Amino acid sequence: MECEPTYADVLAARELLAARLPVTPMWSYPALDHATGATVFVKHENVQPIGAFKVRGGLTLLAGMTPAQRAEGLVTYSTGNHAQSLAYACAAYGAPCTVVMPSSASAEKVRAVRALGASAVLHGADMAEAQERAEKLAADGGCRLVSPGDTPALLAGVGTAYVEIFEARRGLDAVVVPVGSGTGAAAAGIVAAELAPGCRVIAVQSSAAPAAHDSWRAGGCVERPDRTAAEGLATGRGFVLPQRLLRTHLAEFRLVSDEQIFAAQRLLASHAHTLAEGAGAAGLAAVLADPEGFAGQRVAVVCTGGNASAAEIAALGGGAGPVR
Ligand SMILES: *Cc1c(COP(=O)(O)O)cnc(C)c1O
Repeated sequence: MECEPTYADVLAARELLAARLPVTPMWSYPALDHATGATVFVKHENVQPIGAFKVRGGLTLLAGMTPAQRAEGLVTYSTGNHAQSLAYACAAYGAPCTVVMPSSASAEKVRAVRALGASAVLHGADMAEAQERAEKLAADGGCRLVSPGDTPALLAGVGTAYVEIFEARRGLDAVVVPVGSGTGAAAAGIVAAELAPGCRVIAVQSSAAPAAHDSWRAGGCVERPDRTAAEGLATGRGFVLPQRLLRTHLAEFRLVSDEQIFAAQRLLASHAHTLAEGAGAAGLAAVLADPEGFAGQRVAVVCTGGNASAAEIAALGGGAGPVR
């Protein structure tokens, strides 16, 4: 087990990222406040160059490697946005990159990974099978295997989003973070403990893929099926490093249904000028699911990503439910 990232690591990551990524906007929308009964601040990670917050982690990881380490290449596994993050960072630093994606991965995300110059291998029905193939490719090719959840530099990097949030708004009552592997929420906890100890960090996952949630409740990593349409929340298992940090830092871990996520996705489109992918709308879904709990509060919801597939975008405009 690699060591836990600290707040100092997050600040160091911010220095590294300053030249490559501008601070993302955080807006509130009166119509959205009206619909939720709270003051909601939407942190727009959907406007990152890869359309998701994970680019912060990938760039931080690559910045911390030596040229010789980069030259050996990196291999990882992902349903899409971690793949794009690593591909983007490897392109920026001239490192070879291979990503194994489950064969169910969205065509748009696969295309994006390849356009970034990485090699995308479609393999397996789920993340576990993709991971197995990635491990073999790394061993055969002498490349570094990057765990999407248990890599400290990724947590330190994504933590920079929370420095931005807490610096932009004092006195937040809560920050709601969509969770897959848990890197974002764990990093939120590290940063909140320093900058906003009164702010509750609330994690949210889909009830149709509750591996991180159930791991947190169980106090150890468990496996669960991934049946959600929001693939960014679907990792199939808990990850040791983020789970350990979540046990220290998390106030609550909630579940929302795919239908609730879809309704939040629609509301972001109609009330906040924002195209979110399902995972990116889960934070707002948690607020909408508990109007009494959040009434009158100042709540940051992280719109973690905007990489909705063509089918997902079409469904947003139609009368049907989430696309599986
Ligand atoms: C990866 C991802 C998440 C989950 O983040 P973790 O750090 O894996 O918990 C949420 N939303 C989007 C859009 C993602 O890509």
